Amino acid sequence: MKENAQKEKIALVTGASKGIGKAITLKLASMGIKVAINYNSSKDDAKETADKIIANGGSAIILKADVSNYDEVQEIIKEVDSTWGPIDILVNNAGIISDNLLVRMSIEEWTKVINTNLNGTFYCTRSVLRNMLKNRWGRIINIGSVVGLRGNIGQTNYAASKAAIIGFTKALAKEVAARNITVNTVTPGYINTETVDILPQKLKDHILTHIPQQQFGEKEDIAHIVGFLASQESNYITGQTISVDGGLAI
Ligand code: NDP
Repeated sequence: MKENAQKEKIALVTGASKGIGKAITLKLASMGIKVAINYNSSKDDAKETADKIIANGGSAIILKADVSNYDEVQEIIKEVDSTWGPIDILVNNAGIISDNLLVRMSIEEWTKVINTNLNGTFYCTRSVLRNMLKNRWGRIINIGSVVGLRGNIGQTNYAASKAAIIGFTKALAKEVAARNITVNTVTPGYINTETVDILPQKLKDHILTHIPQQQFGEKEDIAHIVGFLASQESNYITGQTISVDGGLAI
């Protein structure tokens, strides 16, 4: 299990221009990992993050791709490969919501969430896996959600996409375990990001009554566990769903 331990690792974090993805990127860079920062529309934010990492002596590049587009995903993975070499660590973080009650949910609302959250995870993972299998080392860390475990009104599309990621993680973990590749899902609860900031105060107060720790999490709470799962120290952990949610999913 110690094979490949000394190589300087290369990571791709999807949806890393802001929020949780940005915090994960900064954490991995602080561990000496070279980070490829994927963004879709927020180029300035992605560049700012890369500049910060480089200013601190790390290595970072930014790559534009819509993860729901398989061709664009393959392009950026080729670009990382030609710049640094094959990807060792993939963090499937890019995710969106498009809420509506099911009875009113449009085909477009359903499809865009499934295409980004679930198909994006499949496209990115499929595109990096062959090299991980060849190198006999890899880390795949998927970002799920407490909503994939518990459901939530108005989020059937999102809950389905995030629950599917858990099944995907377990099946793939079994397929690749013998090659030193681990696959895990981190399921955040409510984390202080733009997504949570914009909720009405009344709703935030209501949510807090359901969280045993009575507070929202920080982006760094997710980044720390992802950093651990990306490291050698997590060698014997695979196929797991790890909740970081102040006890919400209990
Ligand atoms: P943000 O909305 O703050 O950021 C989303 C990121 O995903 C952005 O960097 C955005 O890039 C990127 N993104 C969106 N669509 C695409 C796409 N098609 N292709 C590539 N990148 C894309 O999200 P959070 O930080 O809040 O969430 C990150 C992850 O954590 C998501 O998977 C989310 O479901 C999950 N999560 C978040 C929780 C929370 O409380 N915040 C709770 C539970 C789970 P750009 O701006 O460049 O388009």
